[in-house]
Amino acid sequence: MKTSTEKARETLRKELKSKPLESVIDGIIAEKLNLNTSVLEREKYFEIPDKMVMFYKYSYGEQSRFFSELMNHAKLQGSRCMKCGIVYFPPRSRCSECYGEIEWKEVSNEGTVLSSTTSWYATSEFFDSVPYAVGYVKPVDADTGMLQRIDLKGREIVEPGTRVIARFKERRKGVVSDFWYEIME
Ligand SMILES: [Zn+2]
Repeated sequence: MKTSTEKARETLRKELKSKPLESVIDGIIAEKLNLNTSVLEREKYFEIPDKMVMFYKYSYGEQSRFFSELMNHAKLQGSRCMKCGIVYFPPRSRCSECYGEIEWKEVSNEGTVLSSTTSWYATSEFFDSVPYAVGYVKPVDADTGMLQRIDLKGREIVEPGTRVIARFKERRKGVVSDFWYEIME
């Protein structure tokens, strides 16, 4: 017994052999958009609203390790200048103080808020978290801070100097929203 998918494939294969490819594609488009094929054939430059699905990859370049460690091990990576010792978070590929070379360095999950603002609006992904804060958080063992979401734990504002701790999503995708900070009680 052939499955319906196999049957559909066989029909499509037969069609592809017997008809010009363009007319088969027009037929598929017409079917998806619920149109009459004759419209496509009749109008030479008739335009049809269509949908294009594109798959692509993008690279994190020299920041790759930050995202792979975040996704695979729920760890925060900063970078340390081997010449002057400054620790950057988020990591930089070169020291912006002395142009020295950089090495990767894991930084603490505990941090201090440098500045923050409270948001009462959000996109769908964070709608349940409103109100929440976004702020610059400096890990206790780093010299610079990173802009990140801060869970207010019932408060409305978070003061500079407040201690926070990084929390990680259980299912991480290698994106910056894989982690957030929350106020330490
Ligand atoms: Zn340096």
